[in-house]
Amino acid sequence: MRIRTLHLTNFRNFDDITVDFSDRRNVILGANAEGKTNILDAVHMLGVGRSHRERRDSNLVKFGEAYYRIEGVFDHIGVKTTIEVAYNADGKRIRLNGKEARGPDLIGLAAVVITSPDDIDLVKGGPQLRRRFLDIAISQTSREYLKMLQQYVRALAQRNTLLRDARDKGDRPNTAAWDRILVEAGSRVVAHRLGFLELLTPKVEANFKLISGGSGEVTLPYESKSYDAGGAGASVSHEDAADHIASIASAFMEAVNRNRDSEIARGYTLVGPHVDDFRFVVDGRDIRQFGSEGEQRTSVLSLRCAEATAIEERLGKAPIVLLDDVFAELDNARGAALISLISGFDQIILTSARQSPLGGEKVNRIHLKDRMVTYDGEA
Ligand code: ATP
Ligand code: MG
Repeated sequence: MRIRTLHLTNFRNFDDITVDFSDRRNVILGANAEGKTNILDAVHMLGVGRSHRERRDSNLVKFGEAYYRIEGVFDHIGVKTTIEVAYNADGKRIRLNGKEARGPDLIGLAAVVITSPDDIDLVKGGPQLRRRFLDIAISQTSREYLKMLQQYVRALAQRNTLLRDARDKGDRPNTAAWDRILVEAGSRVVAHRLGFLELLTPKVEANFKLISGGSGEVTLPYESKSYDAGGAGASVSHEDAADHIASIASAFMEAVNRNRDSEIARGYTLVGPHVDDFRFVVDGRDIRQFGSEGEQRTSVLSLRCAEATAIEERLGKAPIVLLDDVFAELDNARGAALISLISGFDQIILTSARQSPLGGEKVNRIHLKDRMVTYDGEA
């Protein structure tokens, strides 16, 4: 799926703007604070139903306005699809071809992969960012994953309420019904994550070698408090993981039972995919602890490019690749390697506050100035 046209109303710094994209290479150029990142984020909103960088929809509404509206016209082998995401005080609304739709309906439609300089936190920062990475990437290719994740999150919230109330009253809660849903949904979430990491690993390794110009064996071990991923876990293949849901579930149930007293004492759930993590290891070194800044950036870009390839393999169609200011941070050799790496992708939209990092081939250059768009180059 490729995006043709984007219309924004009261989104971030824009009152009203239309941007036309070409099929393949698009570069958004403009000074700082013109809204380049906001345009990429708007495309991300249409792909996954939420912002890449802002949790609260109210913060996406242009200051002083009451609503925002994002509309994109997409094209896949000649078939047009219109996706609209709008928000006002009553909440968020999604429409597909003019008809009311829900978040899960977006799955598999306009998959997107985004990377920005903030992504360094995927390697450097806390585990919630890595869980979010897995959740968004896997949800884009699997309705089942999204459904299990939603069931899990609901069961977790209910169970935590019971645990908290019991702690406050000094009771022993009966969480059995929620334990069952937690374990059933949660073990499927874990199995999907293991399968996805397995799919990513060789791709990340190839990308890492290409960008860094070096060698290095990459592993992405999954770290779980409910399921011992040590040894076998990280190398469980996608099919095996599905077969092993039962063993993941029984380990999870054991962990729930083992932690019961401490959970009652603390008043919340201590184990499960909501606290899991994965690591980025090159030749046995954890890049989070031992990587240079450049290696960390290379790791993240390798991961994002692998995500794009994995999504394409699973969906059978390429995601839209959004690259926010990624060349600014790379040395020349790595920049050139990244250009050759992304040359295999289908539609790309990238931003730069300087000149276009892409030349030589047909590039649609989109200039942003004072909230106005002009174009040059070949569309
Ligand atoms: P840079 O080159 O520095 O990355 P950019 O072109 O990517 O800049 P954006 O991050 O897209 O710029 O932001 C553009 C402007 O949008 C910023 O000045 C920001 O303050 C503004 N902005 C963000 N949210 C809102 C909002 N809700 N209402 C109005 N303006 C906003
Ligand atoms: Mg920006």
